[in-house]
Amino acid sequence: MTTMKALVIAEPRRMVWATRDRPAPAAGEALIKILTAGICGTDIHAWSGNQPFFSYPRVLGHEICAEVVALGRGAEGVEPGQRVALMPYIACLHCDACQSGKTNCCEQISVIGVHQDGGFSDYLSVPVSTLLAVDEVTPEAAALIEPFAISAHAVRRAGVTADEQVLVVGAGPIGLGVAAIAAASGAQVIVADTSAFRRQHVADQLGLVALNPADAAFDAALREQSGGRLPLKVIDATGNPAAMNNAVSLIRHGGTVVYVGLHKGDLVIPDSEFHKKEATLLGSRNATREDFDRVCSLMASGQLRASMMLNHSLAFSTLDETFEPQVINNRELIKGVIHFDR
Ligand SMILES: [Zn+2]
Ligand SMILES: [Zn+2]
Repeated sequence: MTTMKALVIAEPRRMVWATRDRPAPAAGEALIKILTAGICGTDIHAWSGNQPFFSYPRVLGHEICAEVVALGRGAEGVEPGQRVALMPYIACLHCDACQSGKTNCCEQISVIGVHQDGGFSDYLSVPVSTLLAVDEVTPEAAALIEPFAISAHAVRRAGVTADEQVLVVGAGPIGLGVAAIAAASGAQVIVADTSAFRRQHVADQLGLVALNPADAAFDAALREQSGGRLPLKVIDATGNPAAMNNAVSLIRHGGTVVYVGLHKGDLVIPDSEFHKKEATLLGSRNATREDFDRVCSLMASGQLRASMMLNHSLAFSTLDETFEPQVINNRELIKGVIHFDR
């Protein structure tokens, strides 16, 4: 059996190379050769040791573009040589959530690269049902389909329609995707982020207005941008409890807040604001096939571009050495993609 290299996170702050047998695709599975892998906040939290429900050792990597190499028995829908993107969520298909079509929040969900070994590895064998053919998408952009799909899901949860005013709080990768997809839906989008670097990125790469929520004049600027009133919808992509607690104060009466950013602790929401406005609060978790399909069509039409979130690339062969200086300690990193040059 041929061997391959995998980068294993052995314990917090320690990544080591392992030589493993190249997997043989089981029935219904495809063996894929990894071409690119995006680096996510989840990978950063796992490295730092503060990712909930996470066990070591683990091979990270769930934002994957790959080439199909071989098919297991009965595996259909993709062919060897095809370029694919991974939908990394393995759902049970039996629980109430799955039965109602919400496989994104399956009670037993297992995410490839989080709960089981992922794509910081030369090869991976995965169910063909998790693969999306993306022959027309560059490997760099295809690695971003999963984070863009998380953004697309949040926009769908918010029910964003044309001409309504939407505030996106947090201009990390998911917030940038949310802003771009809400704008593609025809909404008037305003972005808020405390980082001047990220506000500049929003202006340059998305062509949208970005405000600083820490400014004393933030509320006035927000109203000015939304025609003299507060926005109808706020989508929070910060995971920051202060921002999340404040979100209901930023919508108009009858408005909606969607939390796509995740905070491990409790939220404290002012009930007077919540009730007075008859606010709608929604969570948003992962994505479904419908969201991945939306992203692929927005990429094909040029409304979603890799440069909207991507600003760094790394080589797989040296990732054990570059991860800490170029990812963990890089204050200007928005999204990095790993290239598997062979
Ligand atoms: Zn991710
Ligand atoms: Zn389920």
